[in-house]
Amino acid sequence: MAHIVTCVYCKQRFDRDKFPFIQVSARRYAHQECSLTEDQKKSKEEQDKEDLEQYIMQLFKIDYIDARIRKQIKQYREEYNYTYSGIRKALTYFYEVKGNSIEKANGGIGIVPYVYQNAYNYYLALWQAQ
Ligand SMILES: [Zn+2]
Repeated sequence: MAHIVTCVYCKQRFDRDKFPFIQVSARRYAHQECSLTEDQKKSKEEQDKEDLEQYIMQLFKIDYIDARIRKQIKQYREEYNYTYSGIRKALTYFYEVKGNSIEKANGGIGIVPYVYQNAYNYYLALWQAQ
C-alpha cells in the first residue's frame, strides 16, 4: 500500500515509502531534501563532494582527482542529474557491496551510470528497513 503525502515545502505529492521524508507535525510531511535550508543544502553538497573525492582517492589509491575523473563527475552531475552522494553510493555499491575488482576500472568511474539505479534501489531498501 502506498502512503501518498504532500510535501509541505515543494507541495509535490510523493509516496513516503519510496522517498526519504521527515514528519513535520502530526499529519504533515516533507521530502528530507526539501526540509533543508538553502545554506544547509549548499554545505551538504560541498561536504558530499569532498566525501566523494576522498572516497575515489582511497578507492584508486591516488593523491588527487585527475582531469578525467573530474570530467566524469561533472558530466554525471550535468547530464544525468546525479548527486555527489549518489555517485559515491554507486561506487561503494559496485566495489564494496558487489565486490567487483578495481582492475577493470582503468582509473575512471565510467561504471557509475550502469550501476546508479541499482545502487539507489539498494540503499533505499536499506533505509526503508530501518
Ligand atoms: Zn518536497
